[in-house]
Amino acid sequence: MATHRLLLLPGDGIGPDIMAEAVKVLDWINANGTDRFETEEDLVGGAAYDAHGQSISDATMKIALDADAVLFGAVGGPKWDGVGYDVRPEAGLLRLRKDLQLFANLRPAICYPALADSSSLKRDVVEGLDILIIRELTGGVYFGEPKEIIDIGNGQKRGIDTQVYDTFEIERIARVAFELARTRGNKVTSSEKRNVMKSGVLWNEVVTALGARDYSDVALDHMLADACGMQLVRWPKQFDVILCDNLFGDMLSDVAAMLTGSLGMLPSASLGAPDATSGKRKALYEPVHGSAPDIAGTGAANPIAMIASLAMCLRYSFNMVDLADRLDAAIAAALDKGLRTADIMSDGLTQVGTTEMGSAIVAELDAASRA
Ligand code: NAD
Repeated sequence: MATHRLLLLPGDGIGPDIMAEAVKVLDWINANGTDRFETEEDLVGGAAYDAHGQSISDATMKIALDADAVLFGAVGGPKWDGVGYDVRPEAGLLRLRKDLQLFANLRPAICYPALADSSSLKRDVVEGLDILIIRELTGGVYFGEPKEIIDIGNGQKRGIDTQVYDTFEIERIARVAFELARTRGNKVTSSEKRNVMKSGVLWNEVVTALGARDYSDVALDHMLADACGMQLVRWPKQFDVILCDNLFGDMLSDVAAMLTGSLGMLPSASLGAPDATSGKRKALYEPVHGSAPDIAGTGAANPIAMIASLAMCLRYSFNMVDLADRLDAAIAAALDKGLRTADIMSDGLTQVGTTEMGSAIVAELDAASRA
């Protein structure tokens, strides 16, 4: 039986509430599955600051580097609003992304049929939607130098950010998009602004060349980022995998996310490069939402984004595709039965809390596995 080591970092606010539900799923897998998960839990964010004066300790970072994958809840809250910039809760997440070199951010936008009416778009536009947005996470305009505000005289200042991409950065993220497209609808839409940006011209050239050289079996098209935003709300089902840089990916993934309803439903994965000998990637899985301090500890948090993040972990870190599919189906089945946490509640359905939703999903997984 294969054994995998997971580091659990629940964090702050609702982080511990929703992580407890992911742990229920892991307990079920350990009791019923083909693989075994060994977990270690540690502090991150405000909780780590309170304990160590740092938003993630060096000791925790070492465990993260040694683990097969990291499951992350959420960090932050008003309690830590006044702490220093370098030790603020979010710095812990940024250090994890940087030290694990997580350059590929995967954000699925899946519309569960039971929730199609929660979208701001019409049911027929979003029902059955299944898009994967691949965003480059460690380069581009958020990190390029120079990055500064300078005084240019006459009471004027100049703000400068630099959009910069090298060939290898574009190639490695494009490779992730092509590889994942092969496991899904076999289509990549690469999005940039080559009409006005040199980095967009290079992006387009590198993706086109890589596609022709190594992935000629995958359909590739190119769409300007502004047009892509428009098409995402006009007819999103035309997309399978959307590939974009850090800046456009930040915006397009949020647009795509909102097609599907609530923040409490959205998982994500961040992957590093495959190790040269083992082929394993460093990886961190987390819900898209924050620590929701307004509902922390009330038992109202929706655990689905966290549990769906665990499903991504099974799929992308451990190639346990069948179990990941069954876990996603268990989430859909609990929703089909009319169970809703407060954030996705509508008339005539059954409102449940965090633990009831987690238990219902495990019960669906269990029932489907015994059927
Ligand atoms: P948020 O995502 O925490 O909450 C926004 C709204 O959505 C709130 O009303 C909240 O109750 C609701 N919500 C979020 N997740 C939910 C869930 N699972 N179930 C039910 N309702 C849910 O964003 P915010 O309020 O802007 O930020 C709160 C804190 O979280 C801040 O300190 C912020 O810096 C931090 N934050 C952390 C992360 C992260 O850890 N990755 C991401 C975003 C924000």
